[in-house]
Amino acid sequence: MNKKLRVFATCDIGEAIELLRRRGYEVEVYPQPEAPGKSLIVEKVKSGIDGLITTLRDPIDAEVFEAGKGTLKVVAQYAVGFDNINRADANRYKVPFTNTADVLTEATAEFAFFLMGALARKMWAAEQLTRELKWGYWHPYLPFLGDEVTGKTVAVIGTGRIGLAFIKKCVGVDMNVLCYDPAYENHEFVKTIQEINDLRHARGLTKEKAWIKYVPFEEALRGADFLSVHVPLLRVGESATPTYHLFNEKTLRLMKATAYLVNTSRGPVVDEAALARALRENWIAGAGLDVFEKEPLPADSPLRDPAIADRCRLMPHFASAARITRLSTDPDKGMAGRCVQGLIDVLEGNYGGDVTKMPYVVNKEGFGR
Ligand code: NAD
Repeated sequence: MNKKLRVFATCDIGEAIELLRRRGYEVEVYPQPEAPGKSLIVEKVKSGIDGLITTLRDPIDAEVFEAGKGTLKVVAQYAVGFDNINRADANRYKVPFTNTADVLTEATAEFAFFLMGALARKMWAAEQLTRELKWGYWHPYLPFLGDEVTGKTVAVIGTGRIGLAFIKKCVGVDMNVLCYDPAYENHEFVKTIQEINDLRHARGLTKEKAWIKYVPFEEALRGADFLSVHVPLLRVGESATPTYHLFNEKTLRLMKATAYLVNTSRGPVVDEAALARALRENWIAGAGLDVFEKEPLPADSPLRDPAIADRCRLMPHFASAARITRLSTDPDKGMAGRCVQGLIDVLEGNYGGDVTKMPYVVNKEGFGR
């Protein structure tokens, strides 16, 4: 009889774990909601598991791959971002790793879109007035006003899967779009959006004809009323155009004083000390953040300063946290389904065992001839 395939999951990903068990896998799930320590991951890998299911909380590098030398066959990441996995180390140890692209695209894009609206229309501060019995009167402009989103100009930084999905949402509120992406300009998509804008105008749905175009980074910064960030975290040395601290004192100062920044990508893309200062000193109007340099956000973070609370929304890395997106076992709908399918592809030798043909494997370059 064949030996059972053994898998360790660093967190519970729901029903998809049962799916593996029903296929005959022996699966151990780390039972706590917090991430396990790295030493525990190393210990589990050393015990000879075939597959490791990880999240963005788990640092996966040479130490882990060394522990799994000769036994660990795949790391299945439950996320699209994989900045916690050292790609060069995975390639050196010839361990394929998978991610869950596509299935979280719309959920993440709509969250960024809603966050932009909640931030600009000051929904959090407004609800606080109601809850704290400070809603004393209806008044044309007191105690504060928000800013409209409709008809404004949004800059989309990174026009990959989520950036493009975000643009689709913005079309519905007649926004002009400045696109920036140093590696991937999708002119066909831009042309389609412009055609939709033209049609909406021609049929009388909009007074002004909205526009969309690719521009250099500085032009996007200077021209936007809103900026939404959809880049991977790329540290210096990992890309010709790294994204680490892409938003820093210099770039934040180029934004309009009335502009809002929304970041649902990765925390270290924004220099938080510079952003906190930008908010305190009104270099920009506000920020909506779902991701942070250190997560969970520390108690002493300058972003928690009550003086900027009205213009700084703080979300707990929540953009993909929607029921179907997170838990569906269908690999075309849910992160859980796609995560285990990526693991199954490698461990069961689908696609003739050719890792370079497996759709969810990220580091295909490590397996070329
Ligand atoms: P993607 O690879 O399809 O798109 C990323 C785009 O960013 C690419 O087109 C790339 O060329 C571009 N890019 C790279 N460097 C850039 C730079 N310096 N400036 C501007 N653009 C640059 O990835 P995706 O599926 O759209 O996901 C994007 C990121 O969103 C993920 O890597 C992940 O970190 C993050 N994410 C966060 C959440 C969340 O819960 N908050 C959920 C999903 C994804």
